[in-house]
Amino acid sequence: MHHFQFKDKALHCEELAIEDIVEIVGTPLYVYSSATITRHFAEFEKGFAGIDHLTCFAVKACSNIAILNLLAQQGAGADIVSGGELFRALKAGIPAEKIVFSGVGKTAYEMREAIFAGIRFFNVESAQELDKLETVAAELGTKARVSFRVNPDVDPKTHPYIATGLAQSKFGLPMEEAYRQYKRAASMEHIEVVGISCHIGSQLTEISPFVAALQKIRAMYERLRQEGIILQFMDIGGGIGVTYDQEDPPHPLEYAKAVTAELGGLDCTFVFEPGRVIVANSGILVTSVLYTKTNPGNANDPAKTFVVVDAAMNDLSRPSLYGAHHTILGVRESKGEKQTVDVVGPICESGDFIARNRELGPVQQGDLLAVMSSGAYGFSMSSNYNSRPRAAEVLVRNDCYQIIRKREDYDDLIRGETLLDENF
Ligand SMILES: *Cc1c(COP(=O)(O)O)cnc(C)c1O
Repeated sequence: MHHFQFKDKALHCEELAIEDIVEIVGTPLYVYSSATITRHFAEFEKGFAGIDHLTCFAVKACSNIAILNLLAQQGAGADIVSGGELFRALKAGIPAEKIVFSGVGKTAYEMREAIFAGIRFFNVESAQELDKLETVAAELGTKARVSFRVNPDVDPKTHPYIATGLAQSKFGLPMEEAYRQYKRAASMEHIEVVGISCHIGSQLTEISPFVAALQKIRAMYERLRQEGIILQFMDIGGGIGVTYDQEDPPHPLEYAKAVTAELGGLDCTFVFEPGRVIVANSGILVTSVLYTKTNPGNANDPAKTFVVVDAAMNDLSRPSLYGAHHTILGVRESKGEKQTVDVVGPICESGDFIARNRELGPVQQGDLLAVMSSGAYGFSMSSNYNSRPRAAEVLVRNDCYQIIRKREDYDDLIRGETLLDENF
């Protein structure tokens, strides 16, 4: 469910026509619906009503501080994977005690900042990271709260780049190794062992891998309990998929039901780290058609029509990176014969496409297109490749909008760079 609908043939975000926003802000442009974000968050929460839990939005999915601010108002915490994300989360008003820190490569500097801020816990992913954290906490004369991220070795049945809980993944500790590290950590002076975590992958469209992972971490939780290591937190990560094309992922309520069935009776606080499911369908990327052209083809290959737009793989990398599908709609509904086209950006790479072999209605130079479901891993993965200033972002509420990130200009592109010194 999202709030992007056609009214009088014009695509609207809530009560605002996309065309009206574009007239002021231009393209390429990310447009987010605040009603959709808050609805998705509320829906997720509903499934866990009455259960002691903390929902930490995965900041990397969509990191704009206004959106984090909106989620903070709804009571969300944050799952962060860098010092930069810690900075954003705190700026956005997310309380430190609702922040958990994940990732395989935390630096001592990042650890120091997070301890100093007073985050809820670190998801530690290696023995060496544990040692580093012990050292950093000792230097600060305090204790660091630790949850180990275990790798339950289950197949999430998703794209290989976003599968994270397989034996071949770089993430987490294998179960037996985790057990050894728990024992070691329990005797460390500057470490407080508080939890167990896992995150097996992203864009999961089935419940069964979640359940398989849960059963494994529950077994570990109980085994540790028998050893006198009592965990307060069980963090089961994020990963619920969304519908980009034909996928039929579990509804958050269905997920909650399966999770609570597996975890019932445990005396701990559950932590969830949803990202995509909260924001993916809450945002679109709006782009203008610059040119259309048709290559005639040859004896082997058919003719091909290209729709060249002003958004590119630097703005939305998911199609190039994962071969991801995003629905593309004309911002103004048009009737007419459909055509199979490639929607491509201006970047000098053949891998720069938004869609390939896609059936689109009639498209003309100057038309606006909406790349749907771009709210997660869209802007947050954008870059300046080809020296393209990054897109603007706006957040809509009812019939109002706020520019939550202004379009970058050329000075932004060279910020921090210098010409050669005279004596170089
Ligand atoms: C990316 C990530 C998430 C969020 O995943 P989604 O698929 O967006 O829900 C949660 N936890 C960790 C550790 C992650 O790396």
